[in-house]
Amino acid sequence: MSFLSISHLKKSFGATTVVHDFNLDIEKGEFISFLGPSGCGKTTVLRMVAGFETPSSGQISIGGKDVVNLKPNQRNIGMVFQAYALFPNMTVAQNVAFGLKVAKKPQAEIDATVHEMLSLIKLDHLAERFPYQLSGGQQQRVALARALATKPQVLLLDEPLSALDAKIRVSLREEIRAIQRKLGITTIFVTHDQEEALSISDRIVVMYEGRAEQVGAPFEIYNQPASRFVASFVGTLNTLDATVRDAGAGVITVDGKDVTIGPRLNGHKAGDKIALAVRPEAVSLGEATDKRETTLDGKINSVHFLGSVIRIRASLGENTVSFDTFNNPSAPPPEPGEDVKVSLCAKDLLVLGH
Ligand code: ATP
Repeated sequence: MSFLSISHLKKSFGATTVVHDFNLDIEKGEFISFLGPSGCGKTTVLRMVAGFETPSSGQISIGGKDVVNLKPNQRNIGMVFQAYALFPNMTVAQNVAFGLKVAKKPQAEIDATVHEMLSLIKLDHLAERFPYQLSGGQQQRVALARALATKPQVLLLDEPLSALDAKIRVSLREEIRAIQRKLGITTIFVTHDQEEALSISDRIVVMYEGRAEQVGAPFEIYNQPASRFVASFVGTLNTLDATVRDAGAGVITVDGKDVTIGPRLNGHKAGDKIALAVRPEAVSLGEATDKRETTLDGKINSVHFLGSVIRIRASLGENTVSFDTFNNPSAPPPEPGEDVKVSLCAKDLLVLGH
């Protein structure tokens, strides 16, 4: 049996249902991200796990125990929020000690745990500072230490990095993941940032309109999206219109060129219009060099020089694709308006379902 189990969870506010039949089983020590656009219900599910919100129906169990009727402080959960929710009139050490004081732990144990937690987040030297004397990233590390000090069985992180600037966000997410691994604590991390979710999760739950659209490892979510929504929300995606030419042989026509995609036409017949998804990494500039690739005629729309990578947008007749190419110091990038060849890798074309 899984460690944290959510089954048939539903939440309505008045007549509006914001979480529909949400099911998820999380193993002990797993790092799970809830990823989805604003308003899809990520925080509401997290708040039901924490006990701040009561489900309209459904079950949540932790370690085999039903927790729906337990108060937040009876669930043994640590939580970190987006805004730095530190107590402003307490020092770093006092903030970290707070939960242990409330639990009336002996002073020697409190001191030892505060020291342990501050070493974990590498802020022992700032123990006597007040929150206003810390950077945003440091405040979030203290919030993490405070959440972990009571040795919770589950850690809930609600967009803990979104108020920080980009560089700190990347370093702190790596630190959070390293600490989570070290402690082996079961964690749910809410984010609307797909790169963040892809980079740190064991598994991602992609949410849309209060439902789990797909649950899977980052590699699986990115490469085998289960729906059009997942395909477009996670990663950059090109959507191409195509027509089926020979269903039996798996041949489609894209911008006047035949492409053999094999037995992936899901019952479509000759003449059907279909939509294809293709990731930027299956598109390249220049003639095809591999027999699984097809060369199309294109025209450059825009070129963004990003340093090591150059992001290109090109039209291929009716369709438009975005893709990246590596900077080559001895060859300047193409210019907007230039006629080019663009090759597509047929095996990476995904026929979109719903
Ligand atoms: P965000 O990324 O913007 O935080 P989210 O995916 O976490 O979004 P939720 O905060 O879970 O989304 O909200 C889901 C839906 O439930 C939204 O439409 C929101 O307006 C609604 N909602 C949340 N809390 C309440 C409430 N207390 N009363 C009424 N509606 C609510």
